[in-house]
Amino acid sequence: MKVLLTGAAGFIGSNFLRQMLDENNPSFHEIRVLDALTYSGTKTNLDGLDSASFHFIHGDIRDEETVSKATKGVDAVIHFAAESHVDRSIDSARIFVETNVVGTENLLNSSLKNDVATFIHVSTDEVYGSITEGSWTENFPLSPNSPYAASKAGSDLLAMAFHRTHGMDTRVTRCSNNYGPRQFPEKVIPLFVTNLIEGKKVPLYGDGKNVRDWLHVSDHCNAISLVLKNGRPGEIYNIGGGRELTNLELTDVILREMGADQSSIERVPDRKGHDLRYSLNIEKIERELGYRPQVPFEVGIKQTIAWYRENQSWWQPLKHGRR
Ligand code: NAD
Repeated sequence: MKVLLTGAAGFIGSNFLRQMLDENNPSFHEIRVLDALTYSGTKTNLDGLDSASFHFIHGDIRDEETVSKATKGVDAVIHFAAESHVDRSIDSARIFVETNVVGTENLLNSSLKNDVATFIHVSTDEVYGSITEGSWTENFPLSPNSPYAASKAGSDLLAMAFHRTHGMDTRVTRCSNNYGPRQFPEKVIPLFVTNLIEGKKVPLYGDGKNVRDWLHVSDHCNAISLVLKNGRPGEIYNIGGGRELTNLELTDVILREMGADQSSIERVPDRKGHDLRYSLNIEKIERELGYRPQVPFEVGIKQTIAWYRENQSWWQPLKHGRR
């Protein structure tokens, strides 16, 4: 099988590539990586990998010619590339529409023309909006609130439309909040951990009562592999960790693990339109594909903190714009 990974110089994509190469699965004959190396994508995420084991294409998913060449002869596309930070989308939504909606349409279109057998679109639970009680199944209507979530909903719906209209084998995954190594230090867990390493305070939005479901990135990657292997065309799969925490609870765990206390919290005004709670029902992927999250949050967060302590040369230049 020949596989194209988009955005694999970013957090989740690079973890997925590492897992693929570690598994050394003989069914993957060729792996291509297409990444524009935006502020959140870095070649250092590919450090230590055998460069002969994959082909890196420095290019933009919005560029028709690049994407046409990258998808030629490929059996599967796993589409991670995106603008991914909600706060940035609040400041300016344009690049989110261009990359997440137009870029995804470009990839879908080229994949259709080039007869790509399977297209996995990596989406997010944020497309559902916010839920005060219960959990979303895949049939819930989409009701995104942030410009980021709206752009992901647009791309998610396009992927489904290519299945319904053209009969293309597209599969959509909607995952909860990921954490783990190599996450850009603007996202809450690496931001808080690296701030504490640097002796700074952690900026907590509003009253800290917003609830998120946390999933270790390796569990997300395993779930995507299951969807690639045994998922069904035109289906949506929720992927979650079943570990819901308020932001204040998350902050307390990080503070405790890092030997700090609540005096290290700096309360900052709430994010505009901040979704109160995300919660996924993951019975479908458990039942159909045998998915089970493997990394308990208490274990994963310890490992993640240790990784950021041991890899300051990775995050310092990204955090302080010196690369
Ligand atoms: P990330 O920001 O760390 O990585 C995104 C990657 O995409 C980067 O390498 C960047 O260079 C690349 N990219 C951006 N624009 C591009 C373009 N125009 N052309 C080519 N490459 C481009 O993001 P991430 O956290 O790894 O997220 C990956 C995917 O997973 C995204 O689609 C995101 O919406 C989705 N997702 C993320 C989470 C999470 O918690 N991080 C949860 C659910 C879903």
